[in-house]
This record gives sequence, C-alpha cells and structure tokens, in this order.
Amino acid sequence: MKETSDKKFPKTKIEAPSTISRRDALKQSAIAVAGTVGAAAVASSAAAQSASSSTSGSSNNMAGRKFRAWVHREMGEGITGGVEELTLLPIDGRQVVIRTEASQCCYSNVSMMLGAQGVTMANPGGAIILGHGGVGIVEAVGPQVRRVKVGDRVIVGVTPECSECYNCLRGRADRCYGTVDPLVIAQTSDGVDVVGDLNIGGHAELMVALEQSCVAVNSTHPPAELALLSCVSGTGLGMTMTLSPVTPGSIVAIFGAGPIGLSAVQGARLMGAAQIIVVEPISVRRELALQFGATSVFDPNVEGDQLVDQIRYLCQGESDSFYSGGRPRFGGRHLGPDLVIEAVGGDRFPPKLEVGPDPTGILPLQQAWDLCPAGSDLLTCGIGQDGNVSFPGGRWSNSSKNHLSSQFGGTHMKRDMPRYVSLIEAGLFDAESLVTSTYPLEGTADGHQATSDRTTVNSVIVMS
Ligand SMILES: [Zn+2]
Ligand SMILES: [Zn+2]
Repeated sequence: MKETSDKKFPKTKIEAPSTISRRDALKQSAIAVAGTVGAAAVASSAAAQSASSSTSGSSNNMAGRKFRAWVHREMGEGITGGVEELTLLPIDGRQVVIRTEASQCCYSNVSMMLGAQGVTMANPGGAIILGHGGVGIVEAVGPQVRRVKVGDRVIVGVTPECSECYNCLRGRADRCYGTVDPLVIAQTSDGVDVVGDLNIGGHAELMVALEQSCVAVNSTHPPAELALLSCVSGTGLGMTMTLSPVTPGSIVAIFGAGPIGLSAVQGARLMGAAQIIVVEPISVRRELALQFGATSVFDPNVEGDQLVDQIRYLCQGESDSFYSGGRPRFGGRHLGPDLVIEAVGGDRFPPKLEVGPDPTGILPLQQAWDLCPAGSDLLTCGIGQDGNVSFPGGRWSNSSKNHLSSQFGGTHMKRDMPRYVSLIEAGLFDAESLVTSTYPLEGTADGHQATSDRTTVNSVIVMS
C-alpha cells in the first residue's frame, strides 16, 4: 500500500531545429517594444504601416507582424496540425498581444490536438491555434485595456476573471461570463482566418488574449514553471485553497496524481493537512505524490472493491470514547476524510503506463462520493468522463456530503494567481519537478502525445 521512493520522471528536453532564426528576430523586437512604451512600440515599419491604417485606436498595434503557430485547419481522427507562419491582424478593445514564453500541454486538449475520433473544428472553414493558457510578455494592448501594460510579464489563465459579470460579483469568478465568441486574430499565408482556442491560442509565438484572462506577475521564475499555473497547477492549488480551503490538521484524500492531483497534494501540504491520501494507478506518479507530501498512496488496481474501506481505515481516530473529542475509532460516525478531491477524468486514448480500473472515469467519481462522509466536502474537477454517476436517492438527498464542482479548481485569476506565483517564488510550491518534459513549438504534437500516453507529468512548449 504505502510506498517510498525518490524516483522521478526523467526530465526530457527536445531541442528545436537549429535553423530557426525567426524567434531571435521576434525577441529582438520584443525587447525594443518593452523598452519603449508608447508610440514607438511598433516592431517594424511594416507593422507601423498596418497599425496606422487600423481603425482600432490602439497606440500599440502590431498588425502585419508575422509569427509562427501550431495551427489546425481541420480536425479528425489522426490529424495533428502543424507549424505555419501567420500574419497578425489589428487588435481592438480589450485584446492584448503577448509574446509567448511557454505554454503547457493540457490533457483536455489531446483529443483535439491528436485527432480523436469524432472531433470536429469549432470554426469550420477557418483555422485554430490550440493551447488555453501560457506565460509571456505583453507587446501591445487594445485601447480599452487597463489591467496590463506593454512590458508586463503575464500569466494567461484558462478561465478569465472580468470582475464585472454576475458570477464574478457573487464570488464565483471561476465561472466568469466574461468570455466572447472566438475572435479572428490572424490570417494564414493563403488568407484563412485564424482564432485562438478560448481566445488564447497558447501554442504560438504570439498569443492574442482578452485582458480578463491576463494577470501581470512580478516574477523572473522560469516560464515553463509559471506556465503550469495557467491551468493544471492553478486548478490543483485552487482545489485546496479556494472553495473549500484545507483545514490545518485535517485529512485530505485525492483521486488522481496527474498534473492537477500532484499540485493538489502540494496545496494540501502547504495548507497544513495532517494526512494526504492519494489514489493513483501509475506507480511513478504515486512515488511523486509521496515526494510532494502525500502520507499514504493506494493503487486502485490492487485495492479493488476494498479501496474505500482501506482509506476509511486510515481516517479513524485515536480514541473510542464518544466524549473525548476528535475522530472516533473505526465504527464511529466520522469515517472518512475531511476533504475528498477527484482529479481523474476520463481517458481520451489508452495510456502507455498503468491503466486505471475504469478508463471512463466514472468509478473514481463514484468512489470519491462514497468515501466522502457526512459533513465533509467533495471537490470534483475531472473532465471527459464517459457515462453517468448514480447514487442511492436517499443518501444523495440526505447524507450531508457537500459536493463542490468548479472550473479551474475555483481559482479567481486576479485574486489567486499572484499568491500562487508567490508560492513558487518562495520555494514552497515545487513547479520545477512537475515540468517533466519541454518541447519547442515544432514539438507541440509530441508534447501532447506524451501527455496522452501519461509518460510525462507535464509537457511544456517553451519558445526558444
Ligand atoms: Zn487545461
Ligand atoms: Zn466575470
């Protein structure tokens, strides 16, 4: 059951082909832009010409600039897209142009990126850049942008916080309504309109995002580590710090030790959990969980039907006296963790490492619900489950399990991102060990393949 090891995923770094020189040119112009805020922040004479003819009113427009991106012109079984050179269109309103430093490969994108059966384009006839987050330097802002300025380093998060919509105002910015339909941001060399996934499009040398998705961060930390906060690690930390903050001395059970679950393990440790119990079929991920602070790990393939009872057994208290306080011994009323987190989801493709007991992801949801005792909280964030969960009606109605579902783990971009960055800066959150492979832009499909195969924890696209 419990295992100890200091083994890690081996780090891999795939180098870009040595012929790339465009990136250097972009960086040079970025430095020039960042150092000259104002009218001079136009990177080339061609861009200046385009910007001057734009009706956007932006003082920092870069229309006409060429940049490379991983582009899908169609989606379907086995279609993985490829790198293309695009031409940036004028920005307007609350749009922000960001020179991408790094973007993370998320499992929720593998079906689109690697071409699962039945996947179709969100914008038929156009093209799309996947990647729903990243980190980079602001190079231009639309006329209505107030939150960030040229030269800022920003994290672009998977979920915006507009601070104005109904959900933001009532404390659920993780469900912010401040999104808009996909905006055309660029054109291919043959004139096809290009949008960014979720109006972000992280797998590109330039992201064009809305300011409500951006938070400026005062950090010089490696971009690959900061990029994790844009989705997976932000979600994992959010699961332990936002909707149901971990109580010091409590017991937390976490189903799934992937990028989100391993971030949640660290969050639970930082928040002072006394026990952190992890369920994960992949042995090397169980070992990482122990490295990050888990106190017990279970292989669901080994425990089978006994899994929930085995975890409950670890949650029993020291005393069998009803009046002594604290947890009762096994057989008492509180037989489970204070917080149960589900971070499993459904398999899009079969993993190359150990397969879990239910690739649909339904069984872990059911087990997490069963494990959650009366009065405790159950947080779920996995996606892509294939099927329905069923509950005994009376228990579902009356058993006092507090189910909290969230986007981005409950993270509010503006409130939470700076403190997540501070945890990395202070050495309290180990993002470095979570970055297990890096790729250049050309390796975008390879990074997602490793993510799909589960042979890495996090693949990150790092622009050279
Ligand atoms: Zn994601
Ligand atoms: Zn909002």
